[in-house]
Amino acid sequence: MRDDAPNSWEQRADKSTFYCFTDLPTIHDRGAVVLTHGKGPYIYDVHGKEYLDGNSGLWNMVAGFDHPGLIAAAKAQYDRFSGYHSFFGRISDQTVMLSEKLIEVSPFARGKVFYTNSGSEANDSMVKALWFLGGAEGHPERRKIITRMNAYHGVTAISASMTAKPYNSVFGLPLPGFIHVSCPHYWRFGKDGETEEQFTARMARELEATIIKEGPDTIAGFFAEPVMGAGGVIPPSKGYFQAVQAVLKKYNIPLIADEVICGFGRTGNTWGCQTYDFMPDAIISSKNITAGLFPMGAVILGPDLSDRLDKASEAIEEFPHGFTASGHPVGCAIALKAIDVVMNEGLAENVRTLTPQFEAGLARLAENPNIGEWRGKGLMGALEAVQDKATKKPFDGSLSVSERIANTCTDFGLICRPLGQAIVLCPPFICTPAHLDEMFEKLEKALKKVFAEVA
Ligand SMILES: *Cc1c(COP(=O)(O)O)cnc(C)c1O
Repeated sequence: MRDDAPNSWEQRADKSTFYCFTDLPTIHDRGAVVLTHGKGPYIYDVHGKEYLDGNSGLWNMVAGFDHPGLIAAAKAQYDRFSGYHSFFGRISDQTVMLSEKLIEVSPFARGKVFYTNSGSEANDSMVKALWFLGGAEGHPERRKIITRMNAYHGVTAISASMTAKPYNSVFGLPLPGFIHVSCPHYWRFGKDGETEEQFTARMARELEATIIKEGPDTIAGFFAEPVMGAGGVIPPSKGYFQAVQAVLKKYNIPLIADEVICGFGRTGNTWGCQTYDFMPDAIISSKNITAGLFPMGAVILGPDLSDRLDKASEAIEEFPHGFTASGHPVGCAIALKAIDVVMNEGLAENVRTLTPQFEAGLARLAENPNIGEWRGKGLMGALEAVQDKATKKPFDGSLSVSERIANTCTDFGLICRPLGQAIVLCPPFICTPAHLDEMFEKLEKALKKVFAEVA
């Protein structure tokens, strides 16, 4: 809660820092939550208040906030080789080992990895690679990128153009050539009397019509999150990726899976594309790749794209792209350990173990007359607040219902996130059943309080 003393942490934060994606009225009212440390799935603020982080930081701190093995791996690598780049034919041993590991755990039989510092940059890099390929293969017109409404692919100029959210208009984005097709959220966008299968078929027809209208030779790629994350946890409609991929294959358009959230276990399998049973041409990874302990993104290219990019690069003797900290040895050492911890120390398995309890908790809260839908996959889920359950009518935007629920949860010692009118939960993989019980108890109390005020 806000401390108004002139030198309080809240005041100092306000005066010194531009907040990322932060509701300013909330901050003016409540003050920033200034944090000092974390323990397991809990975080602690400067006043000593404890919060269960039901959002794993920003989806990424899947092993909690003080995992001893991960911290030891970071320390050991800082002692050994504290930093380097991957330019000019020099590369750290950790980087090579991580590339091998990423290919090994990827769905691809073989491929290559390119490193960035973030998910946004990984999407940017993939788009630049597709543009580069178009030029090198004699198709310089092949530049347009298709994504879906409500998709989140990042914040750089390219990845924000792919992120189909209305707020990007304040930047004069999207750039030309970024096309947004419909969001495959059946509950919200299905028409009266339309079955889920018919809805999926309509999504595929729309994609094909868009491709034909734009000109199939002008499309460089289609990017999709297996489950949309920052769009409000939206799993695809039934058969969506099979239907969409058939269209893309017909026109030779690469399908890029943005696995920044889904990757490394969130949906119950290593990759979201495995959960939904499709084979992408490349995978974008970030967030969980280091369990949140180091900024890192990776483009994992499947066999076709890596062969073609190799060939295109040879023609001009290089791939003219790279970030100073691409493939940072400490980040790579942490990622190697994080992948091991998630896949081999029971975390991925714990996601599968906890999923029935997680789904049952969401389903129980969705019995509330002001929750229209619960949805999710693995340990990512959302509850959609509605004024009227029968008609799915949302609350008036001026009521800021989801922000009020999230703020009330914060008061009760639970971090969760408002997205549109949904409340999003994505707890760390190290949670116990008791942590999930605590999460749902606190959320239920908050829902009761807020709905009593607004409904
Ligand atoms: C978070 C996110 C990104 C962007 O990653 P940053 O590291 O914040 O740049 C891209 N795609 C998806 C699906 C994400 O959730």
